[in-house]
This record gives sequence, C-alpha cells and structure tokens, in this order.
Amino acid sequence: MRTDIAVIGGGAIGAAVAYYAKTLEPDVDVTVIERDPTYEVASTPRASGGVRRLFSLPENIELSNYSIPFFENFAETMAVDGTPAEIGFKKNGYLFIVPPSDVDTLKTNFATQQVHGCRVVWLEPDELKAKFPSMNVADLGAAVHSPDDGWLDPHSVLIGFRNKAISLGARFVADEVVAMTRTEHSVISAVLASGQTVSADHFVNAVGAWAKDICAMLDFDVPIEPLRRFEHYFESQDPIEPLPYLKDTQRLAFRPEGQGYSGGVPTLDEPRGYNFAVDRNYFENSVWPLLAHRFPQFERTKCTSTMPGLYDQNDFDGNVIIGPGADGLGNYHLLSGFSGHGLMHAPGCGRAMAELILTGGYRTIDLTRFGWQRLLDGAALREQGII
Ligand SMILES: Cc1cc2nc3c(=O)[nH]c(=O)nc-3n(C[C@H](O)[C@H](O)[C@H](O)COP(=O)(O)OP(=O)(O)OC[C@H]3O[C@@H](n4cnc5c(N)ncnc54)[C@H](O)[C@@H]3O)c2cc1C
Repeated sequence: MRTDIAVIGGGAIGAAVAYYAKTLEPDVDVTVIERDPTYEVASTPRASGGVRRLFSLPENIELSNYSIPFFENFAETMAVDGTPAEIGFKKNGYLFIVPPSDVDTLKTNFATQQVHGCRVVWLEPDELKAKFPSMNVADLGAAVHSPDDGWLDPHSVLIGFRNKAISLGARFVADEVVAMTRTEHSVISAVLASGQTVSADHFVNAVGAWAKDICAMLDFDVPIEPLRRFEHYFESQDPIEPLPYLKDTQRLAFRPEGQGYSGGVPTLDEPRGYNFAVDRNYFENSVWPLLAHRFPQFERTKCTSTMPGLYDQNDFDGNVIIGPGADGLGNYHLLSGFSGHGLMHAPGCGRAMAELILTGGYRTIDLTRFGWQRLLDGAALREQGII
C-alpha cells in the first residue's frame, strides 16, 4: 500500500494528526496504523483528562492556549453527520498549591502565564482558605488558580478525532507495525503483522509509550520510556466544597469525579517497562497520606478502583519530541514523549505536525525548540516547578 502520510499509532495523538492533515489539505492521503482499535492498554483512555494552562515553558502554555478553547468547541467542530462529539468538558479550574520554598518559582511561572494571556489568580494562604475552607493551608506558601482550565473525557476525545478524521477520508488500518525499512536519510516503508507493506512520503511515530520500539526497528534509540502510573477512584467520608483539579509539589493530582474523586501520585522512581500490574498498597502508602494531610474529610477514605496506565516518559527532559531529524531521517517525525500531558496538547500538536509536513514549517505555534536537535545539543528543556 502507498500513502502520503503514514501515522503509526491511532490514539489521541495519531488521530489528531490525521484530522488536521485532512483539514489542512483535503486531498492528502493519510493512513493511520493502529494495532488495537479497542485501545485496551493505550494511554489515552486511561488518562485523568486534566487540561491546564499552568506550565512554565511558553511552548506548553501556547499549546494549551490553542488546545483548551478547541476542546470547548470540540462537540460542534468534530460533529459527524450532525451528531455532536461530546467530551464532557468541565471548566472547573486548576489549582497549583506550593510550600513556602517554591513560592518564587510559582511567581515566575505566574508572570509567564500572564504574559501569554492566561487568566490566572494568585492566592495567598488566607485567600486560599477563604476559597476552599476544608483545605489545610498551614504548610502552604501560595497557590495559583486558573479558572478557565478543567478536565474532560479522554476516550471521547480520541473517538471524536478518529471519527472526524475518517469522515474526512483518513484511512485507519487495524494492524501492527512489526518492522521498518530505511536508507541512511529516509524511511521507506512500514511492514505490518499481516504481511502488508506501507510505503509513504512521511511517517509519524505516534505510538506514545511504545515509541522506542518503532525507533528500534529503525536501529536507533530514543530516551522515551513506558512509565506506569495509577489513576485511583476514591470518595471522601464527609462532603468537601467543589474543588478544581488540584496539584501539589509532591505530585498529588486529583479532581472531582461523580460522587468522589479521581487522581493519584505519579512517581519517576517507578521502574520503566510495560507493566500493567496493580499495586494494591500504592494508594494507602503513597496517595492517602497526602490526601488526609490536605483535607480532613479524606482521613477515612477508601480507594474503590485503581487503573494502571503508561506515560510516554521522555527521560531526557519530560517534554514531547516533535518533528524530523532523529538518526538523520528527514521523513520520519517523532510525536511522542509527552510525559503525562499529551492528551491536553493533542489538538495543538496534531495541528503542528500537520503544518510541518504539509507546509514545511510551523504556522500556528513555533515548536522548533521541542525538536530532535535539543537531544543532539544536550540542551534539556524542562518545566520549572511544574509536574
Ligand atoms: C494514569 C494517566 C493519567 C494521565 N493524565 C493525563 C491528564 O490528566 N492530562 C493529559 O493531558 N495527559 C494525561 N496523561 C497522558 C496521556 O494519556 C498521554 O500523553 C496521551 O494519551 C498520549 O496519547 P498517544 O496517542 O500518544 O498514546 P496512546 O493513546 O497510547 O496511543 C498509542 C497507540 O499506538 C498503538 N501502537 C503501539 N505500538 C504500535 C505498533 N507497533 N503498531 C501499531 N500501533 C501501535 C497503541 O495500540 C496505542 O493505541 C495520563 C496518562 C496516564 C497513564
């Protein structure tokens, strides 16, 4: 089979690339190769669904500035044959809380977010207490609240992009890439488990946590590793006032969900690998102490479900690697390594990838600094004070 753009991986990222490519250039031939159309272990349906502008790097803030309003209009934009693509977007805000030692970093980030036009509100501990009376603020130095952020249903985002891309003429092939062929400077084809071969002008690696496997098929290595992370569902024994998506510097991250809450405490100490085992003690040992410390209503909380999922963790600097150039390959584009914030940036990155391939450069957001070159330069581009 021959196609113009072969996208490997049909999760939120791959589906977004297909949608934007077909939107920017309706005549372009796009083929998405996804080995599991049920997405059983894919990261997208296992994500928490948080979308926020609270970053320190201008690129990540701008990706959110583009993506979050896009999500707000997603149902209409992605409607197919008049049926809206609902994603349950809840504009209930985000809240970063920090101890006194991190106030300066928070202040710097707050200033950057303001420069980029984000609606952010600085809260001193007494203001935080007035807004969220149940919260223990005794050990906190400050907080930043972003009322226009929130959360949504990740699986619906994926299906919305996928259905719309298909309606625009993108082809989704249910097959697995098992080998790749290349010359020194370009990829020639992807070989599928069925025996079929896909040749293309451009190849996009959008397999997320499995990114390094495709690179290994091309005989080179990337520092993107699968990192297990749990999403827990738990309830409080007594009611708490309505909360935004709350994050602290110990990596506690949770939000209201139904009658209870959804969230967890991701850790970089986790061994890398394709591990979907559930550690039944993790909530009690690592999540509950932080919850109970922050809200007395969680002192006797119980976790009723724990879902494992994989981050595509970029161990170089915790940010996406986007674009061509890896191992000298000009038509092979990485779009992985999101390290926990890929879903919220699927629209911005999907669009950026389509622009890069179809117009030869970024038109909406300049993501050059997120390219492969920074790895060659040893120039890590890390978020500061943001997890
Ligand atoms: C617990 C948890 C919570 C998270 N919370 C958030 C959050 O709140 N906000 C946020 O923005 N992000 C969050 N994330 C991160 C987010 O889920 C990811 O960044 C995003 O979903 C990545 O999308 P993707 O399409 O790259 O990956 P995936 O959804 O994993 O899609 C990759 C696809 O590639 C396919 N594939 C793999 N290998 C091959 C092959 N050889 N051939 C063909 N197909 C292949 C897989 O089957 C898979 O469907 C969270 C992640 C986890 C695990």
